[in-house]
Amino acid sequence: MTIVGYSSKICKRQRRFAPTLATFIPEQVATFPPECMATFSGIRSVVLHASTQYTLDATIRVFQYPTSLVSAHFIVGKEGRVFQTVPLERRAWHAGTSQLDGETDVNNFSVGIELVNLNDGIDPYPDLQYEAVARLIFQLRQRYQIPDGRIVSHGQIALPPGRKSDPIGFDFERLYMLLNSFSVATLR
Ligand SMILES: [Zn+2]
Repeated sequence: MTIVGYSSKICKRQRRFAPTLATFIPEQVATFPPECMATFSGIRSVVLHASTQYTLDATIRVFQYPTSLVSAHFIVGKEGRVFQTVPLERRAWHAGTSQLDGETDVNNFSVGIELVNLNDGIDPYPDLQYEAVARLIFQLRQRYQIPDGRIVSHGQIALPPGRKSDPIGFDFERLYMLLNSFSVATLR
C-alpha cells in the first residue's frame, strides 16, 4: 500500500518528536470520532495490544476502515517498522471499557500501541519488535511521565476482567529492562 505524506502542523510536530522512528499516516484514514477528542486528558500511560493480523499492512488497513471504530496511536511491525496513525494530541480508540489504577476509560489518558502479532500465544515477538517498541516508549518518556507500572497490557486493564487477553506472550519484564537500559545518547 502507499503511505501518503502529510503536511499539517500536527504532523510536523510529530515528525520533530520522532523523526527516525515513525512514519505518519494521514489522520483522516484513522478512525477517531471528533466527539471523543475533547475528553483526551493527556498521556499518563501506555497500553500495548496485539493486532491479531498477520502483517503490518493488514493492521493499518483495519484502522482505515471507517466502520472499524478502532485506532491506536502507533503500530509496530515484526521487523521493527513503526507507523503512527493518530496524533499524540488526540484520543485513540483502543482500550474500550477499561480501568487503570482506579481510573476508568483508559483511552482518555493513554497512548495505544498495536504490536503486529496473532495473539495466539505461538506467534513470536521478534527482537527487532521489542527493540522498536522500547525505543518508541523511551521517546514518549522524554515528553510524558509514564512509569514502568503504567506500561500495561490491554488484558490487564480491560473490563470486565477477561474481556481481552492481548498481547499474549509479550514479555513486559524484558521491555522494562530494555527501556531502562537506554539513554538519550543511545538514540542519537
Ligand atoms: Zn487490544
